[in-house]
Amino acid sequence: MEMVILIMKKISVLIVDDLLFMRTAIKEILVHNGMTIAGEAENGLRAVQLYKTNKPDIVLMDITMPVMNGIKALNRIMQLDRQANVIMCSALGQSRYIIESIRLGAKDFVIKPFKAERILSSIKKVLDIDA
Ligand SMILES: [Mg+2]
Repeated sequence: MEMVILIMKKISVLIVDDLLFMRTAIKEILVHNGMTIAGEAENGLRAVQLYKTNKPDIVLMDITMPVMNGIKALNRIMQLDRQANVIMCSALGQSRYIIESIRLGAKDFVIKPFKAERILSSIKKVLDIDA
């Protein structure tokens, strides 16, 4: 258990969502579980900028956002870094984007609203943490 906490502390996550309350809810889950917030972005363009500067271990990416949507931002980030770990987080109605997201290189797809355990298990799966 102690080992797991130590590993989780090193994980930095970039939270991307245009809704402040959603970013705040996700941030609470991550911080409560010992993770570091690499940044918060309210649109895809800002997410790409923050990815370059902050090099997060994980990106939690909303799809429907102004300025640049999550699919375009995913594409840009994967062009910058083929090893990027991007988890798409979107509402049920956006599930048609699952196949496109995976094709572009997303590692997982989480449907909102989600429970804390779903986000945590997705991050662990993507980073291959056996816990
Ligand atoms: Mg949105």
